[in-house]
Amino acid sequence: MNDAPSSLLALFGGTFDPIHYGHLKPVEALARQIALRHVVIMPNNVPPHRPQPQASSEQRKIMVSLAIARNPLFQLDCRELQRTSPSFTADTLEEIRQETGPRRPLAFIIGQDSLLTLPRWHRYQRISELCHLLVCRRPGYPVKMDSAAHQHWLDSRLTRNIADLHQQPGGKIFLADTPLFDISATTIRKRLEQAQSCADLLPPAVMQYIIDQGLYR
Ligand code: ATP
Repeated sequence: MNDAPSSLLALFGGTFDPIHYGHLKPVEALARQIALRHVVIMPNNVPPHRPQPQASSEQRKIMVSLAIARNPLFQLDCRELQRTSPSFTADTLEEIRQETGPRRPLAFIIGQDSLLTLPRWHRYQRISELCHLLVCRRPGYPVKMDSAAHQHWLDSRLTRNIADLHQQPGGKIFLADTPLFDISATTIRKRLEQAQSCADLLPPAVMQYIIDQGLYR
């Protein structure tokens, strides 16, 4: 996180079990679209709303490191992996907001599927106050919230103005025009279980690590 103290700090959380091109490519496109210098990938430890990951924290951390080793856009933050308690995004963002101070623009990157479920996350309203939400397109998840209240929550925060993201500390939601990648970690795990190739779905170094570690068999 060694950017200028006033620049937009963009975080990308997830389980990354394993990290794949559906994570990396849309975020690269988003970074070009809104001029992000860096994106900080933050793997989580015990996600409260999902089943436990198959790979260990250490293995997921190594896979992320391998995936981003030659890409200066990405950085890695392991704070959530180092915790043993559930890592609620709202709590992590509170901590990061303490570190940045109230004025630095802060953003959390999610896919469209996560936007739809966000109102079920712990303190979701607080999340959208603490930072901007930058939403990448994902096939199969049209942006239509499940209630009028949630749709209002979204509509009242939407912006198409990139300057808002760089000038305001948080509070906006930006639907990015990113390319579609029909890839999920679930599909990758299932394909590997059935000994099917995943060569075009994730970086070669990550694939090699999965083979070496005997993961997802
Ligand atoms: P799983 O299949 O295990 O649920 P996943 O592939 O959805 O995993 P996560 O680690 O849960 O990956 O996702 C981290 C973030 O990346 C989430 O915000 C999710 O919406 C986003 N994301 C994952 N895959 C894609 C994709 N193909 N396109 C756009 N966003 C994605």
